Amino acid sequence: MYYPMKLLPALKEYIWGGRRLIDECHKKTDLDNVAESWELASRKEGESFISNGRFKGLSMSEYVEKVGKDALGSRAKRFSTFPLMVKLLDAKETLSVQVHPSDENAKKFPLAEGKTELWYIIDAAPDSKLLYGLKEAMTKEEFANHIKNGTLLEVCNYVNPKKGDVMLVSPGTLHAIGAGVFLLEVQQNSNTTYRVYDYERRGKDGKLRQLHVNEALQVTNLNPPKRNMEILTSLPQIGDAIRKEIGHNEHFRSEYISLNGYAEFFVGDKSFQTFTVISGNLKLNLLESFDVEDEGTLDLSLGDTVFLPANMGRFTIEGRAEIILSEI
Ligand SMILES: [Zn+2]
Repeated sequence: MYYPMKLLPALKEYIWGGRRLIDECHKKTDLDNVAESWELASRKEGESFISNGRFKGLSMSEYVEKVGKDALGSRAKRFSTFPLMVKLLDAKETLSVQVHPSDENAKKFPLAEGKTELWYIIDAAPDSKLLYGLKEAMTKEEFANHIKNGTLLEVCNYVNPKKGDVMLVSPGTLHAIGAGVFLLEVQQNSNTTYRVYDYERRGKDGKLRQLHVNEALQVTNLNPPKRNMEILTSLPQIGDAIRKEIGHNEHFRSEYISLNGYAEFFVGDKSFQTFTVISGNLKLNLLESFDVEDEGTLDLSLGDTVFLPANMGRFTIEGRAEIILSEI
């Protein structure tokens, strides 16, 4: 049961999506656009599937059901649902201005789940923007008036992103990914989004998308963010892999890896690992014994995501590539 699994994502078409995931990452679909590729996901609205080895064809939830939660590691015990989600997002158009609740705030609303998300910018058009929190502190009443009067965009804080930037979107932070941004998102397993502004645009059905102003008023942080970008800390180099920690919070830990050659890594008993190739190509090789020969090796390129179960043991990566690796 402990072998590297290449995942087939759940693909989502939304009004703001582009075609980079189809054209550059070779995601197979009949959709007109792919806004989000749910690379690692285990939700009823979308699941990733295992594409190789003896569990080929199983969804993540079917896999965990079959082999047990040990495959997620001892740290997964504190989660009641699958503990992590990783997405690729291609924003051809700007996303709605939105906010997510914290775990605590989510309890106020039926079926809501808390969401902390982390963005790694894979690519960004020179003039692209990210809406990130409010420019200045305001009262709830002032915030409500800006939504009502259509002046919200004027009081928001904006960041001009470039490749390699990392932003932590804490619960309560108002945000919108702007047109021309291609990013990887690591997040809590949640799909709770409160939309406050959607540019009056209409979907394929000719309708405006639903707003959730009341909920947003109750969960939005009305102070500006402390900083715009995350400051990355270097981690010890492993073989030919240069590493930087890009996020570490109570929900997950993520690192950026730049591989130029060969490196040996390890998956222990505490957590599974997942990684997505964000540039280049690499070969992954399982070093420990495995029963079926073709289960131990994977060739991976841009946009490919693997799931490495807890206790999988030692593996090597070889090639020239950039990776975002996450664990809980
Ligand atoms: Zn979000």
